[in-house]
This record gives sequence, structure tokens and C-alpha cells, in this order.
Amino acid sequence: MSFNLKNIVRKNIWDLKAYSSARSEFKLYGDVSPARESAESKKELTLLDANENPNDPKAHNSELITPNLNRYPDPLQSEIKEILSEQKGISTDQIFVGNGSDEAIDLLYRIFCEPEKDSVITCPPTYGMYEVSAAINDVKVIEVPLNERFELNVKQILKRVQDDKSVKLLWICSPNNPTGNILLKADLEHDWQAENYTKGGMMDMPYNPEFEAELKENKKLMDQLIGRFDGIVVVDEAYQDFTENQSFISRLEDYPNLVVLQTMSKAHGLAGARTGFAFASKEIIALFNKTKPPYNVNELSQKAVVAALKNIDKTRSQVEELIDNREILIADLQQLSFVKQVFPSEANFVLAEVEDATAVYNYLKDKSLIVRNRSSQIQNTLRFTVGTRKECEALMEALKEYKNS
Ligand SMILES: *Cc1c(COP(=O)(O)O)cnc(C)c1O
Repeated sequence: MSFNLKNIVRKNIWDLKAYSSARSEFKLYGDVSPARESAESKKELTLLDANENPNDPKAHNSELITPNLNRYPDPLQSEIKEILSEQKGISTDQIFVGNGSDEAIDLLYRIFCEPEKDSVITCPPTYGMYEVSAAINDVKVIEVPLNERFELNVKQILKRVQDDKSVKLLWICSPNNPTGNILLKADLEHDWQAENYTKGGMMDMPYNPEFEAELKENKKLMDQLIGRFDGIVVVDEAYQDFTENQSFISRLEDYPNLVVLQTMSKAHGLAGARTGFAFASKEIIALFNKTKPPYNVNELSQKAVVAALKNIDKTRSQVEELIDNREILIADLQQLSFVKQVFPSEANFVLAEVEDATAVYNYLKDKSLIVRNRSSQIQNTLRFTVGTRKECEALMEALKEYKNS
């Protein structure tokens, strides 16, 4: 008898196409990294491909100390939850802390989806992990693509949900990665008041009649999409810190089937700490806690997250700077002759359509500037993470020289 690994591995796992991380082709992480060995990979790279905050947290946060590691960490991360509870105005038993939001994504499948039977809806182009996690859990993905303006195809979603009772999860990423736009507005009323206020009006100013109609329309949309759906609606708010729009956390009271995801990986500058959150009803959070590995968030990460959350003002000022950089980058990109269109963004990245994305991508890579080629999802597009002012300038300098090269 000869051993055959394939015979003992679940078919869905054997067939699994792994998530390709933004920089799997670059040698950054020592000898086990799958990157090609080359002279070029030894150079200092400018990393504008994975939507991180470019600032080093150690530079401003003296509380990032090394904790004792002889004890197991708090399995329910109570210190983190207490700070979040206060900052987000939500009770601690409505918060799950995970090993990245990627853990929450996987747990949603494991909790709600029967392998080989159930299905979920995704709205591509969107974040790749929804599909990869579905494949790992042997759950079918029904794709209802965004329209050409990158908006939700609400009619089509409602139709699929009505026709097919096996749909358990609806994935909505907002602001959406990689398009950068808001897909669904949580609370227009709040947004309108806030906008008015910044323009010098009063916080409780009455709204005009046209706005009243828009408000009604949005309420109807939410009630259709979330209120009348028997499954779970997941709103992934990984980029929430970069938009003025209200978070869906404010709607958890209205919708018991709503789950909101956020992360420390983007605005908070802690991608390396692998920590993300799910916010939901306390019943759903109890299911998360029951299903997760007991010590899912390690002590080093918990300490780093607590320190960063206590220092939230620093994060906010970095976010403001990144938003300024984003607006400059958008304006600069629009000046380039080979850039066909730059999509509006409410995140810390910018998607642009260019004449030959792969050529531009390779050109930048040869100059050690790493961006994300999104052409497999949307033809001839590149996604630029908004870096520091200096990094943005280096990027623009290289792009301006592109046509002459
Ligand atoms: C980056 C990103 C995440 C973050 O995942 P973590 O596991 O928390 O690092 C989640 N969702 C989207 C859409 C993202 O772009």
C-alpha cells in the first residue's frame, strides 16, 4: 500500500486556491518567504500595496512594551473590550476580538454555514478573503457583481435571497476594497447633521424636503436588504476610519442579524499585531466566543492594541494626514496622460484605471515601488495605498517619468 496524501485531505481543501497576499512575490520575511531571490529584492522597497498605515507605532507610543509571556493571555480580551465599549458606545458583550478580522470571517462560515449545503452572496470586485474562506469551509459563493459605477445590485441580491433559502451570509464591504467607495449608508440622518455642522450650521438643523425623500429611500433599502433577510448581513468596515459616513455599529439595535467588522490593521497601524473585531448582538457574540480557539489573541498583540487604542488621538491625526495625502494623490494621478480615470475613495487607497496596468506595475516594481495590480478583478486597474507624503511624492515622480522611459 502506498500513502496518498490526496486521499485523506478534504476535497475542498485539496482544491483550495490560497489567498494571494499583496506581497507574496517579494522577499520580505526571511528564508521561508516564497519570493524569488534577486538583487532587486534586496533593495529598500516602498510598500504601497497592502493598505497599511506607514507610521511606526513605536515612534509615538512608549507604552508598546514587552509583556510577560509565561502566562496565557486573557481569553476574552477584557481590557481591549472596555476601551472599545467606551469609544464605540456599545456594550462589551457585543464585541468579539479576533486574530485579525480574517478570523471573524472564518468563524462566520463555521458558525452559520453547513458545508456542501449552504451558500453566501458576495458583491465583486471586493475583498478576496470572503471567497477563500468559503472554499475552505466548502460553502458555495453566489456572486452578484457591483454595477459599472461600483454600486450594489440590490434587485439582483433580493432576488437571489428570495429564490434560494440556502443563502446564510451577505457580504458587504464598505468602504469597499478595492474600489474605495461606500456601498451602503448606515445613517443618512447623522451624516446630514454632521455635514451641516461642519459647514457652520447647527447639529439638529431640520433637513430640506429633497433630503427627506433620500432619507426615506435609504431606510427602505436597509429594511429590504437587512430587515427582511433571514440570514446574516456582514458589513466589513476595515476602512471606516477614513470615511465621514456613520458606522453600522449604530444600527445594531435595529437589526439583530447584522454583524460589523473592523480591524487594527489599517488606520491603527497594527497590521502586524493581527487583531480585528466583530460587533453584533450579544447572542451572536456568544456564538463567536464559543467557537473560537480559547487564546485566539496573544498577549503581545493585546498589549499593543490597548496601547494604540489609548492613544487614539495620535491615530486620528495620522488618519487626517493620510486623507490629505489621498486627495493630493488623486489630483496628481488625474494629471497623467496614461491614467484614464481615478475612482473616488473614502479609504486609504486609490484605484486608478490606466492604459496598460501590468506595464505600469512592472515599471514601478523595477523602481522598488510596490503597488497592487487589480487587473484580475477590474481591467487595467492599479490600487495605490496612500503612504506618507514622501512615499506619495516618490510614486508620483516615478509615474511622471513613465511615458518617457
Ligand atoms: C485589510 C482588510 C481586512 C483586514 O483583515 P485583518 O485580518 O484584520 O488584517 C478586512 N477586510 C478588508 C476588506 C480588508 O481590506
